[in-house]
Amino acid sequence: LVPALRPFASTIFAEMTALATRTSAVNLGQGFPDTDGPAGMLDAVHDAIDNGANQYPPGPGRPELRAAVSEHRKRFGVEYDPDTEVLVTTGATEAIAASLLALTSRGDDVLVIEPYYDSYVAAVAMAGARRRVVPLHLDENSGRFELDVAALEAAITDSTRAIIVNSPHNPTGTVFTHAELAALAELCVRHDLIAISDEVYEHLVFDDTEHVPVATLPGMAGRTVTISSAGKIFNCTGWKIGWACGNRDLIAAVRAAKQFLTFVSGGPFQPAVAHALRAELDWVEQSRAALGDKRDRLSAGLAEAGFSVLPCSGTYFVCADVRPLGYSDATDLAWALPERVGVAAVPVSVFTENGAGNTHLLRFAFCKRDDVLDTAIERLHRLT
Ligand code: PMP
Ligand code: GLN
Repeated sequence: LVPALRPFASTIFAEMTALATRTSAVNLGQGFPDTDGPAGMLDAVHDAIDNGANQYPPGPGRPELRAAVSEHRKRFGVEYDPDTEVLVTTGATEAIAASLLALTSRGDDVLVIEPYYDSYVAAVAMAGARRRVVPLHLDENSGRFELDVAALEAAITDSTRAIIVNSPHNPTGTVFTHAELAALAELCVRHDLIAISDEVYEHLVFDDTEHVPVATLPGMAGRTVTISSAGKIFNCTGWKIGWACGNRDLIAAVRAAKQFLTFVSGGPFQPAVAHALRAELDWVEQSRAALGDKRDRLSAGLAEAGFSVLPCSGTYFVCADVRPLGYSDATDLAWALPERVGVAAVPVSVFTENGAGNTHLLRFAFCKRDDVLDTAIERLHRLT
């Protein structure tokens, strides 16, 4: 493995899921749902296979999926030409990597907000760019992770080319407010930065929280690559169908990179996802409401078990402070937890530089059946 990639030899998700399997632990580490998506979408993939959609689809994605993505983005207030401004990718992961490969070069700085989803920093390294990491500010009173706009601005140099934004935010569950994102957008415009906006949890916001797409902010439509994924919207994380939307120059560049990464993405899944985007948004709304209840169920259970639970406005994840239970280091606890009580969680420190940040927090995924959450909660009571 080349030196630049050595820090990324194996992901936390692979390691923690392997440990959970080995110890028969309830896996609240990796964020994937344990129930299927809408039946109509599952039928559509069988139909697509039966009807011969089994060879290479078109490079930018099947036209009906690009049209459906373009229609879907209008719900979030942005219009994209399905022929030139929408690219189907192999999950959001490929869209993120292809964007960085296409839009940054050696010597460029990329701002990364910490804690960060792990693929961002690996993809920055693969692109040969340099990451400049800016931590979120944890408000001790509210427990909310806030965007530190002054720190972002201080990290910008003449070499800064792009910023990776993620709202709703994994792992913290923060959904950035309009004011926070408007301030970030103003920085992007003033310093001529590209925003790579990972919005995979755009539908998964709870209570009265509003998801603000970065591309809707003043001056951002032409400088934002917006990324989403069917995996999170329709409970099909294994299908790996995602998309990137942006102006034609940005998307032409991302497409050039994508064609030499995977060329095309999962043929029979594309018409099924197109169907789902057109016809299954009621299912998405029900799923969102159910997830809000699951967040409450797990948060209450964790609090009863002795954790101090942070607020969560979106995503699949809730973070909890382990210190009230008498532990000083959540990283050590995370590696011991599956064996000790039969539950797997992810330490938030793995999403920080050198594992040094947020060492008191564990991330738990609540996108699981209620009985699974209840079993995990019952087991976690054994920690006290
Ligand atoms: N971004 C974030 C913030 C995620 O949590 C994930 C995990 N699903 C991804 C990107 C990757 O998405 P996909 O599985 O579509 O590649
Ligand atoms: N996005 C999911 C998470 O954050 C899983 C990603 C993965 O397994 N690579 O847990």
